[in-house]
Amino acid sequence: MARILKGAPAAATLDERTMRGVAELSARGITPTLGILRVGERPDDVAYERGAIKRCEKLGIATKSVTLPEDVKQGALIAQLARLNSDSGVHGVLMFRPLPQQLDESAACEALRSAKDVDGITCGSAAALYTGRGEGFAPCTAEAVISILRHYQVPIEGRHAVVVGRSLVIGRPVAMMLLQRSATVTVCHSRTANLAEITRGADIVVAALGRAETLTAEYFSPGQTVIDVGINFSEAKGKLVGDVDFEAVEPIVEAITPVPAGVGSVTTAMLARHTVLAAGASL
Ligand code: NAP
Repeated sequence: MARILKGAPAAATLDERTMRGVAELSARGITPTLGILRVGERPDDVAYERGAIKRCEKLGIATKSVTLPEDVKQGALIAQLARLNSDSGVHGVLMFRPLPQQLDESAACEALRSAKDVDGITCGSAAALYTGRGEGFAPCTAEAVISILRHYQVPIEGRHAVVVGRSLVIGRPVAMMLLQRSATVTVCHSRTANLAEITRGADIVVAALGRAETLTAEYFSPGQTVIDVGINFSEAKGKLVGDVDFEAVEPIVEAITPVPAGVGSVTTAMLARHTVLAAGASL
C-alpha cells in the first residue's frame, strides 16, 4: 500500500505560515487583499472563485471581486487591469483564463504588474522564476506540487524527477522548481518516445498531461513518489480522476497523491500565501 499524500495537511501547514504573515501585516495596519478578475460566468471559474474567497476569509485576507461581461472589449479589460494595478489596497490579482475568444489573452496577461501577479501569468513572473531575479510568483498549482513534496519530506536533491507535460502553467514551472532544488529533471510531452521507460526510471513522477488515467501500471516501478496534477471528469466513472490510473498504480509505488483531495486542495492555499507575500513586498 502506498502512502497517500493528501493535499489538506500540506495546505494546513501553508495556512499557518500565511496566518502568521497576516498577523504581522495587520500589526502594521495592512489587510492583505486579493483582487479577483473574472470575465463571464464559466462554472469552473465561479466555483474556484467561491473556494478562493472562502479560504481567504478564513485566513484574514480580504477579496475584491470584479466580474466583466462575457462580451467585454479588450480596451475595457485592460482598463480594469490598470485600475487594479494602481489600487494600492489590492496586493495580488487573480485573473481567470482562458479568456473569451475576442480577447487577446497574452496582451491582457502582460497588462498586469508582475508584483501583483500571484498566479504567475506574466512574462515577468516567468523570468523571476527562471532567473531568481525580479518580481512575480510561480503559478499556484505548480508551486503546490513542490509544497506537497516538501510537506511530506520527499527528498528532491539528487533525485531523478520526471515531469510529464510542458505547459507554461504546470509542466515547465514545476520542472524549473525541481531543478532549483537540485533534482535531475526530465521533461516529457506528447512527442516523447518510450515514455513508460523514462517514467519507470524516475524517483519522482509529476503527471500533468491532462489525459484521464493515461499513466497506467506499466509507467511505474516500486519506490516512486507520484504527484498527479490532472483533474479530469470521467464520464464512465461519473467522478473526477487524475492523469494517473490510481487504482492500478497505488499498489506499486511508494507514495501517491489522490484526485480529488491532492494537489488541487493546495492551490488556493498557495494563492493566499502569495497574496500575503505580495502585500509584504509592497511595504
Ligand atoms: P495542457 O496545457 O493541455 O498541457 C498538457 C501537456 O501534456 C502538454 O505539454 C502535452 O504535450 C502533454 N501531453 C498530452 N498528452 C500526452 C501524452 N499522451 N503523453 C505525454 N505527454 C502528453 O494542460 P495543463 O494546463 O498543463 O494541465 C495539465 C493537467 O492539470 C490537466 O488535467 C488540468 O486539468 C490539471 N490542472 C490541475 C490543477 C489543480 O489545481 N490540480 C490546476 C490546473 C490544471 P505537448 O506539449 O506535446 O502538446
